Amino acid sequence: MKKIKISRILMDIDGTMTWYTGVRARSNLMLQILAEMLMEQYGTDKETAMERILNCGDTATQCLSEFLPSLNISAEKYFAAVRDELSESIYIPEDTKIFLEKMKEAGIPVCTATTNSIFATRIKLAVGGLADIDGSPYISGYHPGCEFGDPEGKFSAHYFPAILEKHKYAPETLMMIGDEVEHDFYPALKAGIRYGVVIDRKQKERLIAKDGGIFISDLRVLLDLLEI
Ligand SMILES: [Mg+2]
Repeated sequence: MKKIKISRILMDIDGTMTWYTGVRARSNLMLQILAEMLMEQYGTDKETAMERILNCGDTATQCLSEFLPSLNISAEKYFAAVRDELSESIYIPEDTKIFLEKMKEAGIPVCTATTNSIFATRIKLAVGGLADIDGSPYISGYHPGCEFGDPEGKFSAHYFPAILEKHKYAPETLMMIGDEVEHDFYPALKAGIRYGVVIDRKQKERLIAKDGGIFISDLRVLLDLLEI
């Protein structure tokens, strides 16, 4: 089989780079932790803390980390608190670590394509030691849902076309890897991205070719298919 030559990878975070321990994270975890830090720092009740946070901006298009300076909350402490709690519910599986390492060695840039903000992306990668608050050696660029100021973020029909338009990525040598067919695979192909990959670590077959894409059970499967 002829190997696939790609110049760049777009990659989802949740369920793609990360995987789940089986412990459910509490909902709105980043908001909850920020409220708790405010309550502790200022001795306020939860309602007041929430009100102060929500008055800082628009949570539909902004990341909570943008509010930290005006709340006078340490970004480092917040980053660590969220990372520590998240590490109970998610982890970075071995295949992600190996895949990202190989792409780095091969000089193929990996950019995120995710609803997560840059701050939240780094927290999640930090759970597996792949990033810190300042960045990740494995990630060349970030395309958070809020990149285009659209409240629908990644779920907007404009998301993938806007990335291609703004960054001039060559669609014919671009690959999108995600775990959700509806939000990662079809919209990427529809935007003209040549290679769509769906990862499902519960899939029995290592590799299935269907619907114009590649369905894999482990990111290591891709290493055999790529020209690297
Ligand atoms: Mg996902």
